[in-house]
Amino acid sequence: MTVERTHVVIAGGGFAGLALALALRQSLGPTFEVVVADPAVARPAVDARASAIAAATRRMLETLGVWPSVAAQAQDILDMVITDSRLDDAVRPVFLTFAGEVAPGEPFAQMVENAVLLKALLARAEVDGLDLRPTSVTGYETGPQGVTVTLGDGAVVEASLLVAADGVRSRLRDLAGITVVGWEYGQSAIVTTVKHERDHGGRATEHFLPAGPFAILPLTDNRSSLVWVETTDEATRIVALPDAAFHDELEKRFGLHLGALEAVGPRQHYPLGLGVARAFVAERLALIGDAAHRVHPIAGQGLNLGLRDSAALAEAVADAARLGLDIGGPDVLERYQRWRRFDTMTMGIATDGLNRLFSNRSDVLRLVRDLGLGLVDRAPVLKRVFVREAAGLSGEVPKLLKGEAL
Ligand SMILES: Cc1cc2nc3c(=O)[nH]c(=O)nc-3n(C[C@H](O)[C@H](O)[C@H](O)COP(=O)(O)OP(=O)(O)OC[C@H]3O[C@@H](n4cnc5c(N)ncnc54)[C@H](O)[C@@H]3O)c2cc1C
Repeated sequence: MTVERTHVVIAGGGFAGLALALALRQSLGPTFEVVVADPAVARPAVDARASAIAAATRRMLETLGVWPSVAAQAQDILDMVITDSRLDDAVRPVFLTFAGEVAPGEPFAQMVENAVLLKALLARAEVDGLDLRPTSVTGYETGPQGVTVTLGDGAVVEASLLVAADGVRSRLRDLAGITVVGWEYGQSAIVTTVKHERDHGGRATEHFLPAGPFAILPLTDNRSSLVWVETTDEATRIVALPDAAFHDELEKRFGLHLGALEAVGPRQHYPLGLGVARAFVAERLALIGDAAHRVHPIAGQGLNLGLRDSAALAEAVADAARLGLDIGGPDVLERYQRWRRFDTMTMGIATDGLNRLFSNRSDVLRLVRDLGLGLVDRAPVLKRVFVREAAGLSGEVPKLLKGEAL
């Protein structure tokens, strides 16, 4: 059996894995070898979602040369409206509005369809000559000098560092014996795309209903992406409805403020939960993206957090490589873990709290949150803080997210 030698093996060629691979390749050059293994690089799964890409994430994608292929299909979020009125209220009062740019002409976030972003990352990976293998990582063993990784096609690859970017049900996290703190919400998000008669004007609307948020997120060409949260039983029922009945359920929640509606994309539903890995690293292993954390989509931050992991790990590895240090050694891994774990816990707690505050039928909580939202709405300084937070520009920001090359 021949054993190949490389510097880094990345299990998972999704958003986090590909962004890390590009960052390492571009900062350390072609002599720094990175293998990305994922059966999906040959046939990406259907993904009906679109993601709010925060300004900092967009800067990173621009620095990596990915954004030019995405830009024409990205929709600026010009303002955001939050309401928790009841569906049968004659008028739906608005409690909070956000608008703002982080720099002139730079919106705090843009909406991009997941399929568009993944295609652009894969295309850039090919241009950069990355070693993409359409197979899974099935196991690994660590030793003092490195990690020996087994792939589904039988190949064996020795590396200094193995990265688990293998998503929410990470096999590598399990193999490393890292447990996850968290819980299921008993909610699922229905996702689909809707075409409407009138222009949305770049407005995102988050309507908090008792079962969970109903978010209308603007896309290009008079379309919007929906994230529609229900109890899991109800979501399963709604997704399976015939088209006409699905349309009725949709219209009841969406309303007719944008004219006639037509569901145009595939319908999917995703069970929701909170989960943060107890450790983001183990011997010669680092967890990034959903393998490290799973957050409620209420604030549209999961993918942004994952790319922040990629940027932080790439910076820690690049710094070590340039100093001739062991890139999979404990110092590098500890630096990465310290950098990312606190930020992730904060986001996990924030999204969990928001979900609990809004996804319920309590009149007392309704009063508390409406008072709170009303106060924030009248506090421009606080709003500016929130806009910077949503843009991913607060805290210790990795270089790539500031738009700086490594
Ligand atoms: C309804 C919904 C809406 C969302 N909206 C937003 C949003 O607006 N903004 C935002 O920032 N985030 C959002 N998110 C979160 C975001 O979608 C995820 O955080 C993101 O997709 C995670 O990316 P990832 O690269 O970590 O994992 P994934 O995209 O899941 O990629 C993991 C990859 O690993 C591969 N893999 C699995 N096992 C193996 C193995 N053993 N070996 C090799 N490869 C393997 C898989 O094939 C897959 O390609 C949303 C999530 C949901 C559910």
